Amino acid sequence: MQEIHELAARLEHEVYHDLLTGVCTRSRFHECAAELGDECSVVIVADIDHFKSFNDRYGHHAGDLALRQFAAILAENCRSDDIVARFGGEEFVVLLRDTNLSDGLVAAERLGRRIRHKPVFVDQQALSLTASFGVAILPPGGNVEVAIQQADRALYNAKHEGRDRAYVYDPARDSGPLPTNATVEPESINNHVS
Ligand code: GH3
Ligand code: MG
Ligand code: MG
Repeated sequence: MQEIHELAARLEHEVYHDLLTGVCTRSRFHECAAELGDECSVVIVADIDHFKSFNDRYGHHAGDLALRQFAAILAENCRSDDIVARFGGEEFVVLLRDTNLSDGLVAAERLGRRIRHKPVFVDQQALSLTASFGVAILPPGGNVEVAIQQADRALYNAKHEGRDRAYVYDPARDSGPLPTNATVEPESINNHVS
């Protein structure tokens, strides 16, 4: 009986927590978001900049270290009842409870600064990373999928405008379809901390 309880606890932990980074899984995020009360929240979609080049240049192991550190920075800079989840690859979603849009933007910009100023150490080499953020409001009783789509759209603009920044979803600018050539072109990068 004891063994069954331990196994069930372990399985639950694996369903709820991303194996690499320890933050919530996407499904856990949705479970928690479904339980939100009558409060205004903010959704932040966070995506590491040029992560493919980082992996190509320093290797997959360095990429994994960077992902762990990125997730830790997100989690350390949120309150215990906020939700931090890895949605896949190098894309994370943060839900800040009881927060308005302007405070959400301040929080996303603070996360960006923390990430920019905390190098990842790989074989004693300090490597810098940046990330881009899209921020959207989730009103009381609102649809979390819509808020994530809006934050994603703002993230697209943040990438397009040069990365390493946080943008708020703006319905006047962002509600139309994405331009057909909607790939964000990479610019040259250098991860070495000088
Ligand atoms: P952008 O600035 O536009 O976001 O460019 P990007 O290179 O970050 O985005 P892209 O989607 O082209 O590449 C994402 C990369 O993330 C590709 C893949 O190698 C890497 N990646 C995804 N999951 C993992 C993982 O679990 N570990 C490691 N090391 N890399 C991963
Ligand atoms: Mg990326
Ligand atoms: Mg991505």
